[in-house]
Amino acid sequence: MTQRTLVLIKPDAVRRGLVGEVLSRYEAKGLSLVAMELRSIDEQMADAHYAEHVEQPWYPPLREFAVSGPLVALVLEGDEAIAVVRSLNGATDGRAAAPGTIRGDLSLSNRENLVHASDSEESAAREMALWFPEL
Ligand code: ADP
Ligand code: MG
Repeated sequence: MTQRTLVLIKPDAVRRGLVGEVLSRYEAKGLSLVAMELRSIDEQMADAHYAEHVEQPWYPPLREFAVSGPLVALVLEGDEAIAVVRSLNGATDGRAAAPGTIRGDLSLSNRENLVHASDSEESAAREMALWFPEL
C-alpha cells in the first residue's frame, strides 16, 4: 500500500552535516520525495508537533533542542512508507538502535537522535497537515 509519512531531519543532523547522508538512505531505499523544506521552528510549533509528549519530564529539553537550529522537514512516499521509514531510522535511543539504522550508525543519544518519522497513518495525516498544509 502506497503511503506518505512526515520526516524531520533534526537540528543535530543539520549541525553535523548529515542531511545528505540521511536523505541518501531514504532515496536509496526507493522512497520518493514529495516535499522538503529547511526551516527553523518556534516553541509553539514544537509543542504542536510533539503534542503527545508535552507533559513528559524530558519534554522541556526536547523542545529546547527542537528550536535550537534549522531542521529539514520532508514528506516521503512509497510502499508501506510509514513502517519502512521507522525501520530505517531505528530505535529511539541511538545508543540502543541497531547498527545499519540511521540512529544506530550515527547517534549516541536518546534525545539528539537525528530524525523523526510519523508512527501511524493517523499521526502521518496530522503531521503532514501541520508541516505542509498546502499538500
Ligand atoms: P520516536 O522519535 O522514536 O518516535 P518518541 O516519540 O518516543 O520517539 O519521542 C520523541 C522524541 O523525544 C525522540 O525522538 C527523542 O528525541 C525524544 N525522547 C524520547 N524519549 C526521551 C527520553 N527518555 N529522554 C530524552 N529525550 C527523549
Ligand atoms: Mg514518536
